[in-house]
Amino acid sequence: NGLIISFGEMLIDFVPTVSGVSLAEAPGFIKAPGGAPSNVAIAVARLGGKAAFVGKLGDDEFGHMLAGILKDNGVSAEGVNFDKGARTALAFVTLRADGEREFMFYRNPSADMLLTPQELNLQLIKSAKVFHYGSISLIVEPCRSAHLKAMEVAKDAGALLSYDPNLRLPLWPSAEEARKQIMSIWDKADVIKVSDEELQFITQNDIIDDEAAMSLWHNNLKLLLVTLGEKGCRYYTKKFRGAVDAYNVKAVDTTGAGDSFVGALLHKIDEARLKEVLKYACACGAITTTQKGAIPALPNHSQVLTLLNGPN
Ligand code: ATP
Repeated sequence: NGLIISFGEMLIDFVPTVSGVSLAEAPGFIKAPGGAPSNVAIAVARLGGKAAFVGKLGDDEFGHMLAGILKDNGVSAEGVNFDKGARTALAFVTLRADGEREFMFYRNPSADMLLTPQELNLQLIKSAKVFHYGSISLIVEPCRSAHLKAMEVAKDAGALLSYDPNLRLPLWPSAEEARKQIMSIWDKADVIKVSDEELQFITQNDIIDDEAAMSLWHNNLKLLLVTLGEKGCRYYTKKFRGAVDAYNVKAVDTTGAGDSFVGALLHKIDEARLKEVLKYACACGAITTTQKGAIPALPNHSQVLTLLNGPN
C-alpha cells in the first residue's frame, strides 16, 4: 500500500444551480472543488489507498478551503504550497442545453501556475510508489519546470510514472502547441491513460481502433489505456491487449469518471490481475457518473463491491 502522489492543479469549478443554461443565462453558481490531479488523489484515498497531492493554491479562503477538502478526505497536503500574491484558480463550467460543455477560466495567472521547482517537497516526492500527472501543469512557467523536475525526481527514486493528458484545449495557445507539449513528455511515462477524444486529438484522426491506440505506444511503456465512456475501456501491454465493458448505470454527470478510473487503477495496479483491476476501475468510473459533481461521487471500496457483486 505505497504512496500515490498526484501532481498538478486543484481549483474550484463554479457550476450553475440549474442545468442546461449558458454561463450568461445561469441565475447562480455553486462551488464544486475539482482539478483532475486532486480528484485522482481523493479517488485513491476514498478507496483506502495512501495519497498525497502536490501543487499550489492561493493563500486565500478558497485555497485553504481546498487544502481542507484534501485533508478531510485523507489526502496528505504536505506537498501543497500557498501563493501570497495569486488567487486559487477558478473555472465557470456549464453543460448547455445542446450538450456541449462551456468553460470560462480565471487564471491570470492563478496560484497553481506559479509553483516553482525550488518549492517542491522533494523528500515527499522521493517517497512515492506512483507519481501521477496531467498536462495542464505544462502550459506555463514556472509550473512547467516544477512539473518536469518533480517527474524526474520521482522517476529517479523508482516511482512508476502515470500520465493522463486531460486535454483542456481552451487553456493552450493553439491546438498545435497543446499536441506538441502533451507529446513532449510522452516517452517518460510507464502508464498512460487517454480518452477516446484525446486519442483522436493526438493522432489527428477520427478512427478509434487498436491501430490508432498502438500508434501511441513507446518502448518503455508498460500499460496504455483508452477509456471510452459508456463503452468501457481498452488496454494494451507489451504482451497482451483487450477490452473491458462498462457497467450499466444511470449516468447523471460524468465529471470525474476518468479521474475515478485512474485513481482505482493506480491503487490496485497489478499486471498479473490486470483485467480484474480494470473491471474495478470501470466500476469506479461508472459509480462516479451516478451523482452530480466529481468529489462527492467518488466511491469507497464497499460501493464498488456492491456494483461488482450485486447487493448482498
Ligand atoms: P472525464 O474527463 O469526464 O473525467 P474521461 O473521458 O477521462 O472522463 P471516461 O471514458 O468518460 O473518461 O470514463 C472513464 C471510465 O468510467 C470509462 O472507461 C467507463 O468504465 C466509466 N464510465 C464513464 N462514463 C460512463 C457511463 N455513462 N456509464 C458507465 N460507465 C461509465
